[in-house]
Amino acid sequence: MSAPANDHPLDLESPRFSIEKPAARYDKQGERPDAERLVAAQRAFGRDFGRAAAAYMESCIHCGNCAEACHFYLTTGDPKYTPIWKLEPFKQAYKREAGPFAWVYRALGLKRAVTVEQLEAWQELVYDSCTMCGRCTQICPMGIDIAGLVGLARHAMFEAGLVPHELWAVAERAEREGSPLGATPKVLSERLEWLADDYEVEIPVDQPEAEVLATFSSIEIMKYPESLVATAKVLNRSGYTWTVSTRGYEATNFGMLSGNVAWQRSMSLKLIEAAIACKAKILVLPECGHAYSALRWQGANMLGRPLPFRVLHISEFLAESLRSGRLKVRPLAMAAAFHDPCQISRRGGATSAPREVLAALGVELRETKDAGARNFCCGGGGGVVTIHRADPLRHKAFEIKMAQLDATGAELALTSCANCRQTFDDGRAHFGWRREMGSLLELVAGQLAD
Ligand code: SF4
Ligand code: SF4
Repeated sequence: MSAPANDHPLDLESPRFSIEKPAARYDKQGERPDAERLVAAQRAFGRDFGRAAAAYMESCIHCGNCAEACHFYLTTGDPKYTPIWKLEPFKQAYKREAGPFAWVYRALGLKRAVTVEQLEAWQELVYDSCTMCGRCTQICPMGIDIAGLVGLARHAMFEAGLVPHELWAVAERAEREGSPLGATPKVLSERLEWLADDYEVEIPVDQPEAEVLATFSSIEIMKYPESLVATAKVLNRSGYTWTVSTRGYEATNFGMLSGNVAWQRSMSLKLIEAAIACKAKILVLPECGHAYSALRWQGANMLGRPLPFRVLHISEFLAESLRSGRLKVRPLAMAAAFHDPCQISRRGGATSAPREVLAALGVELRETKDAGARNFCCGGGGGVVTIHRADPLRHKAFEIKMAQLDATGAELALTSCANCRQTFDDGRAHFGWRREMGSLLELVAGQLAD
């Protein structure tokens, strides 16, 4: 398309150059009547209305505290991003169909039946504008687990075939190929061989027995391969026997993020079965936040019994190995700020591990405001980073991170989640921000001492 004839300097504010804002887009999977989508969603609602969810639905006192906790509300000021509001159709369905006064609500028409139009509008609220970071959960005086309820709401949306297209596509690809980004067993094996050669590091693969099973995230495999090398260097130095298994290596769990429990289970079981097969005592999870939620806190439920091995996030493994003397590091005279991945720190409880590692390195830790369990999300968790139409909203939320990290004045910015790192890379490119987000694991691997 040729530019309009113009005899004056380019004025991008001019209406001639304005781009029409795209209409809100809702994605649907499959061809089926709306009535069927509703039935499927209601079936999922019914299945998930456990006692805990019911208690949550009854206990909100409308104090508004959760709004002040959410980065999407804080950076836009839009009331529709109030966390508890994101659950409104869930609450409406509960009150009308399952609550103790459901018959009253129905008889007097106090709660209307949830419609497909509501669910379509809801898609943006439970996917694009919620990273399931749990900051609202933590701040709620009634202890309502809003992030957990958003996870349940996603189950209903998946059943109804109302998932943002990109998130659905990566989840489906992960289920079909074993990786959301095409890191199939063959691709992984080739990459590991290449990395072992290039970096002259030993990477054992498919060993019949090993004390430690190492796992990776697809973002590391495809975008940050030096993390794989760092994992190998650390494990080689730790003195444990270890292996990567082509049977179960992909720790990202888009089944969980998209809302498909069957896919979540099959993705978790691949790792669990690989660990059992090589008789691992420890399964080390990579720098990936939601991988920690999926396996550390939900893995035993997926298996149906306690896991016969320990699950450690790599930052916990580093802290434990430094404490026991299995690993030694050369000191680093630098100041660093640490971005806590929500699913590892606030939702996972492993807040002290990275701090212990930084202390062992002798790094001066300059905490951001709200650091630790109250840390703000990077804006890309919960699968949001995959949803293109959510980019403007995600970038808005990212403004909090830039301001907080800049305020520390630290030379280094570090995290222990590749998904956060990718969100930071994207935010950095979008805003032309000067800071680069580094990996805690890679920093340690570069400082290993005899
Ligand atoms: S879980 Fe995080 S992103 Fe979702 S509503 Fe709560 S504070 Fe906002
Ligand atoms: S903080 Fe808790 S009680 Fe207050 S409005 Fe939010 S969900 Fe309701």
